[in-house]
Amino acid sequence: MPHHPPTPGAQPRIVIIGAGPTGLGAGYRLLELGHTNFTLYDRHNYVGGLAHSFTDPAGFTWDIGGHVMFSHYTYYDHCFERLMGSEFTLNNRESWVRMFDRWVPYPFQNNVRYLPPDACFECLSGLIKAQSGKGKIPSAAAATNFGEFIDAVFGEGIAKHFMRPYNFKVWAFPPERMNKEWIGERVAVIDTDRALRNVILGTDDFGWGPNNQFKFPLKGGTGEFYRRFGPILGLTPDGRETPNSHIRLNKHVASIDIDAKVITFTDGSTDRYDILLSTMPLDVLCTSVLRSTDTAPRNGDTTKSLRDITALSSQLLHSSGYMVGIGLKSRAPGQGTPDTKSWMYFPEDNCPFYRATYLSNYSPNMTPDKDNYYSLLCEVSESTTKPTPGNFGKNNDAVIDSVIRGLEAAGLLLPGERDNIVSRWCYYADYSYPTPSVERDEILSEVVPWLEKRGIYSRGRFGMWKYEVANTDHSLMQGVELINRLFNNEPESTIGMVYKVTEDGRNAAQHERPAHAGSGEKRIKHAAPASSSSGMGGTGVPPVHATNGVEVKPVEAVSIHPQHVGDIDAGEVGEDEVGISHG
Ligand SMILES: Cc1cc2nc3c(=O)[nH]c(=O)nc-3n(C[C@H](O)[C@H](O)[C@H](O)COP(=O)(O)OP(=O)(O)OC[C@H]3O[C@@H](n4cnc5c(N)ncnc54)[C@H](O)[C@@H]3O)c2cc1C
Repeated sequence: MPHHPPTPGAQPRIVIIGAGPTGLGAGYRLLELGHTNFTLYDRHNYVGGLAHSFTDPAGFTWDIGGHVMFSHYTYYDHCFERLMGSEFTLNNRESWVRMFDRWVPYPFQNNVRYLPPDACFECLSGLIKAQSGKGKIPSAAAATNFGEFIDAVFGEGIAKHFMRPYNFKVWAFPPERMNKEWIGERVAVIDTDRALRNVILGTDDFGWGPNNQFKFPLKGGTGEFYRRFGPILGLTPDGRETPNSHIRLNKHVASIDIDAKVITFTDGSTDRYDILLSTMPLDVLCTSVLRSTDTAPRNGDTTKSLRDITALSSQLLHSSGYMVGIGLKSRAPGQGTPDTKSWMYFPEDNCPFYRATYLSNYSPNMTPDKDNYYSLLCEVSESTTKPTPGNFGKNNDAVIDSVIRGLEAAGLLLPGERDNIVSRWCYYADYSYPTPSVERDEILSEVVPWLEKRGIYSRGRFGMWKYEVANTDHSLMQGVELINRLFNNEPESTIGMVYKVTEDGRNAAQHERPAHAGSGEKRIKHAAPASSSSGMGGTGVPPVHATNGVEVKPVEAVSIHPQHVGDIDAGEVGEDEVGISHG
């Protein structure tokens, strides 16, 4: 494992591409460790990446899709506490599914009594057959892809009415193109007794309550938390660069000479690195950014050249997404948001979005006036197998129009309410979901170690392409853990998480803790003990100063012990795109 201890006066030069959660986490951790020879570059004029928030001219604040924070990490929690203090709201996770012109409480499988009787019967009978091994696919272990996994675990009825249509709308690829391994932690515990009992006894099973809440920044949306890393890393409080800031904005990486370790930006400027952390999409990095005059395999690779790595990474699949924000005047003066729901899932094809969020329920500051306005944020996916009228970001207006019609069809906009729309906002994310395709893990197991042999560490949502560890908390920790690995020789545990599929879908999340580099690494029995110089927990590392003089103290009360390295098994997952959660 490469190990680059920082030596005074001879700090290795670290360049970070991308100031999203992964890059910001890495930069923050570098400062904690007293390493100052680093720069983060981002093509945008803001930090936060996909976790940035925008306020539109009408005064509505929008996230890039509904961002719900469920942290798995003590370190992340402490970052949030330090940067946000008490400036957050605590919200119920009230989610519903819209189908058959009605609202079904979530989790779906526990509330099928809300469906019309024939659909309810299909769901229950399919579930019982599947769980007793008499379905189309006898067990989760026998499934060879996500589509078969759905049939094996949920049975034909739930597959037909919810899981298959919903997942296609989210992922924009048929579930047969996806592997089953990614689902692990997100799989609901399928409790057939509970599903049956609720139908027969007519009981409800809501997935929300005091133990199922999430934090959200009081002002500025999800992005506010990430914006606050800016001043620590040298930006001014309003996000502008200072001469000494570690962040350089509006810097678009055009090419990287991996032989000379030199980066060239679209403005013609260059920088050199000893170590490169890239958070840009892995396929873009390998197919259009890396350059090498040495096309033969080298550095211990006997079989792969850059051309091979380019060809492999070009097979990775992803979807794009339109995030459409509709800002409205309240239905009656003083009424605010007309509903208490947090977010809603839409499996049917009467609307283009798979999920809609009442963002105005997350904080009183998401609209110009909480009493007289409200906001809905809708997500529409797109891929070559699921085109939309948006035509890959070329016609956002067409998507906005289809969303408004869909909101009417789904009963979220009442007849005539169209006239109350005061804001139409749209963000097109060309990279929205890293698809856990059937081939993905094999590709990653070749590409990621190949890059690392050349001093390039690809991490983050699209850097590592592991959707299962691609939420904000995972991403930030991927950055932190990489620095811990490089400087303190600690294992990176988040990227190495492997999810096992169990027979009945229970206890599916089993995390492997590999020595390093995640994909393709051999399993090790014990994580390496944390180094005493880790700097976490207030010992060993003095407070360091960011370039603007802000003191970055080692995060107090956070101590990394082997059992706390990386993922801990506490907390809920943030995104629920598969439409299922812990029951
Ligand atoms: C629709 C949607 C819903 C989500 N919901 C949730 C949720 O509910 N909860 C949750 O925790 N997370 C959620 N996420 C995930 C969250 O947004 C990501 O975890 C996080 O933003 C990933 O951080 P990152 O730094 O790895 O990547 P990014 O945020 O993508 O940042 C990468 C950065 O690299 C920069 N970059 C790319 N190419 C170049 C280049 N050539 N030169 C210079 N800079 C470049 C980009 O500008 C960007 O700023 C959601 C994401 C989406 C898209």
